[in-house]
Amino acid sequence: MIRIAVISGKGGTGKTMITAALAQLLPGSLVLADCDVDAANLELLLNPKLIRTEPFMGMKTAVIDHALCTRCGECMEHCRFGAIERDGEAPHRYRVSPLRCEGCAVCVHVCPIAITMQPRQMGEIMYSDTERGHLVHARLVPGAGNSGLLVHAVKKNAMEQDRNCDLFLIDGPPGTGCPLISTISGVNIVLVVTEPSVSGLHDLKRVVAVCRQFRPRILVAVNRFDLELSLTETIQLWCNEEQIPMIGKIPFDPAVIESVRNGVPVTSAGTSPAAQAIQMLASNLEEELRHYRDQRK
Ligand code: SF4
Ligand code: SF4
Repeated sequence: MIRIAVISGKGGTGKTMITAALAQLLPGSLVLADCDVDAANLELLLNPKLIRTEPFMGMKTAVIDHALCTRCGECMEHCRFGAIERDGEAPHRYRVSPLRCEGCAVCVHVCPIAITMQPRQMGEIMYSDTERGHLVHARLVPGAGNSGLLVHAVKKNAMEQDRNCDLFLIDGPPGTGCPLISTISGVNIVLVVTEPSVSGLHDLKRVVAVCRQFRPRILVAVNRFDLELSLTETIQLWCNEEQIPMIGKIPFDPAVIESVRNGVPVTSAGTSPAAQAIQMLASNLEEELRHYRDQRK
């Protein structure tokens, strides 16, 4: 199984649209994971059939047993994260804000009688079927942290769905934080989707620097490349200098917006300029996959 992650330095580059189209175009058996858990929307383009869900338990957080609490306030004094608050008017009750609690357990040392650490549900992992294979995706409770942990769980569970399939295709998160690191660890190929803007180039450089620490094969695609041709040229030159193949340039195309509105990959909606460019991207990626398989023989 070759593991491919489609990522971007920032949101809004068209990464999910490209992942959905690649899922449709790449040959062989597939298993899919949506690791953009803060804004999971691959499902909107692949029309999955939900099979089952399971709770995602994040790290443990502190819980105060009010029957045992003497309301001394010691725990609040010692919490460095401001996660323990006083409720209402005197006599006060103390309560833990689960969204602020960092799970350090200092308060349990201060008050082992009334405070315990307990697992808390931070989201939900969903298992679905699509026309192209199993999809594992997730929903994070609004405001919950732990998205890196959830990404790890989504990836692990997706791989366990079908260990013998040809490709594991991941829609990764934007940015360079913990969710990205969880996504790219153990991945063979990373496709970075960028756009021709100064911030796009800046984010591309940052995300490539992070990816290089994990040593995957790095490839680049520029979406809406024709909106700023001089910057596309600058990105191309930078990729050449860094010996990173640019395997796709997708033009701005209203057909993309129309296909997103209709909940289908742009490649299933005819032969628009963007669809043709993504077909070219998929065929370049296939070439890379062939090369990768040959090297492993
Ligand atoms: S939980 Fe413990 S430390 Fe905190 S106010 Fe109650 S008795 Fe005091
Ligand atoms: S576990 Fe740490 S962060 Fe959470 S309430 Fe206790 S002291 Fe504060």
